[in-house]
Amino acid sequence: MYFHTPSLKGACAELTQEESEVFFPPPEGGSGWKKAVAICDTCEIREKCLEWGLQRESKGDRYGIFGGLTAPQREKRYG
Ligand code: SF4
Repeated sequence: MYFHTPSLKGACAELTQEESEVFFPPPEGGSGWKKAVAICDTCEIREKCLEWGLQRESKGDRYGIFGGLTAPQREKRYG
């Protein structure tokens, strides 16, 4: 069992550690992140998760997928 957002239990909570790696795509990209976003699309706490992630990261130091958004997407949207 994996908790991407330890205090929240969203759709990713039932993934194994290995399955959850798609939530942390390498900086050079790849397509694994699409699987993570597809899981987020089914998640009932997506908005809460995005808020959780934004509160714990800062501009230029974003990593991983939260609330269905990749780090570059959050950087572009929230600065
Ligand atoms: S929105 Fe995505 S990363 Fe956040 S808890 Fe849900 S499935 Fe996990």
